[in-house]
Amino acid sequence: MSSTPQLPNKTERQNALESYNILDTLSEREFDDLTELSSVICGTPIALVSLVDRNRQWFKSRKGLDASETHRDHSFCAHAIENPLEMMEIEDAKKDVRFINNPLVTGQPHITFYAGVPLVNEDGFAIGSLCVIDSVTRKLTETQRSALKILATQVMDKMELRRKISLLEKAKKLNAALLERSVLGESRSNMLIQQAPIAIILFKGENFNIEAVNPPMLKLLGQKADILNQPLLSVIPELEGQGAYALLHKVFQTGETIHGNEQMVNLIHDGTETSGYYNFTYCPLIENGQITGVIDMAIDVTEQVKARITVEEVSNDLRASYIKLEQSEQKQSSAIEQAKLGTYTIDGFSGKMNASERLKEIFGYRNDEEMTYESVIGQVSADYRAQVLQAAQNVIKEGLVFDMEYTIIKRNDGMLRWVKSTGKHYKTEADSYGHFSGTILDITEEKEDDIRKDDFIGMVSHEMKTPLTSLKGFVQLLQLKAKKTDDSLIKSILDKADKQITKMTRMINGFLNVSRLESGKIHIEKEHFNIKDLIKEIEDDTIFNADGHTIIFDPVETAWVNADKDKIGQVINNFISNALKYSPMGTEVRVSCISDKRGSVVSVRDAGMGIEESDIAHLFERYYRVEKHNTKSIAGFGIGLYLCAEIMKRHNGKIWVESEIKNGSVFHFSLPAVAA
Ligand code: ADP
Repeated sequence: MSSTPQLPNKTERQNALESYNILDTLSEREFDDLTELSSVICGTPIALVSLVDRNRQWFKSRKGLDASETHRDHSFCAHAIENPLEMMEIEDAKKDVRFINNPLVTGQPHITFYAGVPLVNEDGFAIGSLCVIDSVTRKLTETQRSALKILATQVMDKMELRRKISLLEKAKKLNAALLERSVLGESRSNMLIQQAPIAIILFKGENFNIEAVNPPMLKLLGQKADILNQPLLSVIPELEGQGAYALLHKVFQTGETIHGNEQMVNLIHDGTETSGYYNFTYCPLIENGQITGVIDMAIDVTEQVKARITVEEVSNDLRASYIKLEQSEQKQSSAIEQAKLGTYTIDGFSGKMNASERLKEIFGYRNDEEMTYESVIGQVSADYRAQVLQAAQNVIKEGLVFDMEYTIIKRNDGMLRWVKSTGKHYKTEADSYGHFSGTILDITEEKEDDIRKDDFIGMVSHEMKTPLTSLKGFVQLLQLKAKKTDDSLIKSILDKADKQITKMTRMINGFLNVSRLESGKIHIEKEHFNIKDLIKEIEDDTIFNADGHTIIFDPVETAWVNADKDKIGQVINNFISNALKYSPMGTEVRVSCISDKRGSVVSVRDAGMGIEESDIAHLFERYYRVEKHNTKSIAGFGIGLYLCAEIMKRHNGKIWVESEIKNGSVFHFSLPAVAA
C-alpha cells in the first residue's frame, strides 16, 4: 500500500481542524442534509463529510456507511486534501496504484469510484473533504462536479458558523464576568472587553451612551474609536426603527437577556448602505441592583447566511434539474433500451469518445474495452469510409444532422454488419468545441431482409422478362396478321394486349433496375447528346400513349449534355407516365426543357391531384407511395421516382417537384451543360 501523503503544514492544519471543536461530536442534521444531497445529486450510495485527523479520518456526517472513522493510512480523503484547490476524482480505484491494495477497495465497502472536494477554511487549510463513493466505476458530469463543489463550500460555511457559535459561548462566560462589573471594577472590565475575541460594545443609560467598545465591534459597525461617550443613535442614526435597536430598549426596560439569531441589520459604511446578518446577545448591565445599561456581543454571520441562501437556491435548482434529468434519462434510457440503440458522445476538444454498452456490443467490444473514434472509423467498410468522414465533416461545418446507413466490420468476429448512424454536433458560445453525439442502430437483419427481397424480385423479374419478350413478339406477329383482315375487334384487342405488355415490361424493368441498383450493378454509360433529340424521340413515342390526355411538348432548344441517354429518357418517361396516372382524363400534360449556359432543366407539368407537402419529402424514397383514398386505386410500387432520383444522383443532377394539393404538380430535373 502506498503511504498516506504527509501534509506540509501538518501542525498548522491540525490546529485549524481542532479550532472547530468538531471531532467526535454528535451528528447534526445540517451536515447530514448536505451529504444526503451530495449522494442524490451524484447518484452514489455513499457520501461523507470526512475530517482528516492526525491518525484517522473521522466522519462528521455519513450516508450509506456504518463506520464512523477509518485509519488515516486507508484514507482517500488524505490524498484528496493534498491539493486543496482541486477535487480528486478516481473512476476506478482498482486501477490506481495508490489504492489498489487499500482494504476499503479490496474489502467492504469495495470503493471503486471516489470523488472528493477538499474542505478549505478561511486561512487556506484543507481539513477534510466532502466525498462521494460508489462500488462501481463511474464518472461525474460537469453539473455533478460543480454541485459537489458548491456543497463542499456549504459544509465549510457550516463549520465556520459552528466555530463562531462556540466563540459566542465563550463570550457568554465573559459576559457573566462583566455582569460582575461592580465587583471587577471598571478598568478590569474594560480590559476584558478590549481583549475579547468577539465584537463587544457597552451602553449606559436610556440613550445608550457608548461607554466601551472593542476593535472587532468598531470594525463590525464601520466606525472609529471616537464614538466613545456618545449616544448610539447620534453615531449610527440608521439604527432607529430597526429590530435590533428595539430589542436593546426591551433589554434595558425588562432586564431580560435576548439572543438574536441571524438578525438583519442595515448599516451605512462609508456612505453606502449595507445589509448584514448578526448573531448577538444583549445582556442587561446591572449595577447595585439597577439596570444601568446593556452589553452587546455580536458575531457577523453575513457571509455564511448569504452563502447559505445562494447554496439553498442553487441546491434547489440543482435538485429540480437533477430530478428532471433523472426522469428524462429514465424515459430516454427505456426508449433506447427498447430500440436497442447504441449511443455515443465525442468530446469536440479532446476527441475522446464515450460509448454506451450497447454500442460497444454492436461494434464487437467488451464493455471494459475502450472504443475510440479512430478505431470506429477503421471498422467502417472501405466502400463507405470516405463518405462517412465527409458527411461527419459537413455536419460539423454546417450544423446538419448526420444520418447514414453503412457497413462495419465487427471487431470480435470480423462479420459485416449494417448500421444506421445518426449524430449532431452540439456547441454553445461558451463551449465552441462542444461535443458530437448520436445513436447507432444495428439494421443488419432488416437490410438482409431487403437484400433477400431485392434478390427475389430481381430473379423473378429476370425470369419473367424472357417469356414476356416472346409474348410481345407473338402479339406483334398477330397484329401484323390482323392488319390483313377486317376484324376490327381482334385488331383493337391485340392493340390493348400490346399496350399491357409494354406496361408490364416497363414495370419489370423497373424492378430489375432496383435490384441492380441495390447490388451496385447499375451502369451509367455517358455520352454527349443533344437533349432536344431525346425529347423529340420521346414525343414521337408518347403521342400514341396519351391515354385520353392532351400532351403538349413545348419547343426545345439545342442543348448538349454528357449523360446516359437511355436512363435520362427513362426519367422523362417516368415523369410523363406519372403525370398521366395521377391526373384526370382530358387534362393537359406539358413537357418542356429550358437550357442556358449552366445546363438544362426538363419539366413535366400536370393538372392532377397534386401532392401534400408532408409527402413531398419522401416521394423519392424507395417503395414510397402516397396512401390517400384517391391514389389507392392507382396501381404502382413506388419505385419509379426512386429510380429517377438514383439516376440523377449518378449524373450529379438535381431532381425536385413543385406541387400543391388539387392544383397539379411539376416534376423537374436538371443536368449540367457541356460544350457541343
Ligand atoms: P408509383 O407511381 O409506382 O407508385 P412513383 O415512385 O413513380 O411510384 O411515385 C411515387 C408516388 O408519388 C406515387 O405513388 C404518387 O403517390 C406520387 N406521384 C408521383 N407522380 C405524381 C404526380 N404527377 N401527381 C401526383 N402524385 C404523384
